Amino acid sequence: MVGHVFPFASILMQGIAYAKTSQETPMKSSAQQAIRDVQHFGEEGGVVPVIDVASTSTFLDPKDMERTFMGELQGCYLYSRHSNPTVNIFGLKIAAMEAAEAALGVASGMAAIACAVEQIFRNAGVSGGHIVTSRTVYGGTYALFKNILPTRGLQVSFVEATDLKAIEAAIRPDTKVLYAETLSNPLLAVSDIRAMAALCKKHNLKLVIDNTFAPMMVRPLELGADVVVHSCTKYISGASDFIAGAIAGSQDFIASLIDVNTGVVMLTGPVMDPRVAHELYMRMDHLGVRMKAHSQTSLFIAKNMAKEKLPVIYPGLENHAQHGLLKTMIDGSIGFGGILTLECADADQARLLATKLQDEKFGLYAVSLGFARTLMSCSAKSTSSEIPENERKEIGLSEGLLRFSIGYTGDDQVMWERFMKCYRSVVE
Ligand code: PLP
Repeated sequence: MVGHVFPFASILMQGIAYAKTSQETPMKSSAQQAIRDVQHFGEEGGVVPVIDVASTSTFLDPKDMERTFMGELQGCYLYSRHSNPTVNIFGLKIAAMEAAEAALGVASGMAAIACAVEQIFRNAGVSGGHIVTSRTVYGGTYALFKNILPTRGLQVSFVEATDLKAIEAAIRPDTKVLYAETLSNPLLAVSDIRAMAALCKKHNLKLVIDNTFAPMMVRPLELGADVVVHSCTKYISGASDFIAGAIAGSQDFIASLIDVNTGVVMLTGPVMDPRVAHELYMRMDHLGVRMKAHSQTSLFIAKNMAKEKLPVIYPGLENHAQHGLLKTMIDGSIGFGGILTLECADADQARLLATKLQDEKFGLYAVSLGFARTLMSCSAKSTSSEIPENERKEIGLSEGLLRFSIGYTGDDQVMWERFMKCYRSVVE
């Protein structure tokens, strides 16, 4: 017995993510089934696991602690900036959802992005290099890439993610990462993850996909991505009460993040609190139900908006530019997600409409997404304001664009009638 061993075990090796058919042919589990089949119990057999809040763990033999620090011994609980049992079981749920070998909960979505990208360069043994990223990404990601990573020796090229030729043209000999969002924030352009993965293979890059908008819907790793990042603050929390993130990928990559000498999470420290991990672990079991509810109500509202000839963008509508592509990537039982946008005449009209919708209790004027209730914000003036105005124009992000994270509470028909009452009062 060396110490207290942590189960960073691959869920694939445990056979959890794959069920067997009666013919013994391995059958791939859906994200819903895979999450459900990860289960842990309380110490006295409770149906809920205990929270292990300890920041440090005992070693039975002092030499094993030394060997752990020397990198000669793997798999012992050491100190909770390195590994924690409750954070680890949350990681197993995320790994199950993403069909990943392993996953790690971290302090925020931004921590997930920054650590995953930097770790790829550390693992390649280079202190600098180049990233190609989609230019239609969350504004915070844009600012991280534009203003922070260059000060850490990483140069970044911003390209149109739906233009594969532009992506390939931007690749340099020192490029190590291609970065994109499954569904871009807020324009809802769909990344062709299979095609991006093929490009990455050809040029020996790692494909990092932010799957925050599409948990349960899309599994980027199955489509060829190398690393998936999440802002768990959004759908995975579902209650707008935590800031949290996660990184999923190969066992080796996830282990590298907590290496005592070169792990970016271990050494920069944005770890997940075990109390947060426990809460989120519990919520993973109903994430599928919630995602379906978000998708159903969004499709209902989007279809009604389209019927009224309103300028709505929703990937579940057939007129969405990449609707066909998205259909080849999603778990159809979940639907097309909970985000839609409406193009208002200008920022003033968008503000006025949002204010009326808030007064009428259709939704709340707040950034973020994935909450049970509808959230609305003018992206150009908020979560995409970090993108300079000329670039926003180039990518087609207008000041009048109102983003909706559609909630599932209430009665769809009542909510729709509230929406139309407000809309008519603003445009007529
Ligand atoms: N990725 C996307 C797509 C987001 O929308 C956000 C936040 O809005 C983030 C990452 C950052 O996540 P967090 O706020 O949890 O750091």
